Amino acid sequence: RVEFEGLKESVEFVNASVVVDGRHILKDIKLTLRKGDRVGIVGHTGSGKSTLVKIIPRLVDYIGSVKIDGVELYEFELSSLRSRIGMATQETFLLNATVRENMLIAKPDATDTEIWQALKLALCDFVEDMDRGLDSMVGERGYSLSGGERQRLSLARLFLKNPDIVILDEATSALDMSTEKRLLKNLFEFFEGKTMLIVAHRLSNVMECNRIVVVREGTIVEEGNFYTL
Ligand code: ATP
Ligand code: MG
Repeated sequence: RVEFEGLKESVEFVNASVVVDGRHILKDIKLTLRKGDRVGIVGHTGSGKSTLVKIIPRLVDYIGSVKIDGVELYEFELSSLRSRIGMATQETFLLNATVRENMLIAKPDATDTEIWQALKLALCDFVEDMDRGLDSMVGERGYSLSGGERQRLSLARLFLKNPDIVILDEATSALDMSTEKRLLKNLFEFFEGKTMLIVAHRLSNVMECNRIVVVREGTIVEEGNFYTL
């Protein structure tokens, strides 16, 4: 097994497919993501967008080939691969624990100062209003957070983790438009120069992407940018 030491050049999908129960969910994907690329992924519901991005941290099995800097994903030691890939999705995962414990998942040795910085970048000002700050309980036995608050907390984790490859899969869907806009601005600024993949329904959210790929029925049918598509 190879230790993943960070993205140097590219992630390359060479005829990658995902087959579940004999059905091709993704078929012969060819896509090269260069370091620093900001790629938008759009397409109708059920077209395969989430499955496509889940390949990179190996949350789904693929056939064919997907390589990072020439090394097949299956060759990498899984925990080292995942330690440098950050993903935020529509469904957020929260521990029934304190805010601090929920943040430390992303970076176990983070200081409180770093945690507060990440919370601020993700517009989690609601934590400041909690009676015990970072020691406040969230989840069943504590503050029950709204969908938008949960999403922001999960994005705060992404800032804290500061991965090499950043994946946002409808990660701001529960936010109102102006909050979403401010948060995306922070994400784009903070992760400037990092490789980002942004799955979105709203085309306006991928306006800032240097490339946009369109997925339809498991294949990439178009590629361009906001102005050419
Ligand atoms: P949405 O915009 O609604 O999030 P999507 O483009 O992200 O859709 P995917 O979640 O990638 O679509 O799903 C693509 C297709 O694959 C869907 O038809 C879905 O039902 C199917 N699918 C995804 N994962 C699995 C799985 N583990 N087992 C069976 N079918 C699956
Ligand atoms: Mg999806």
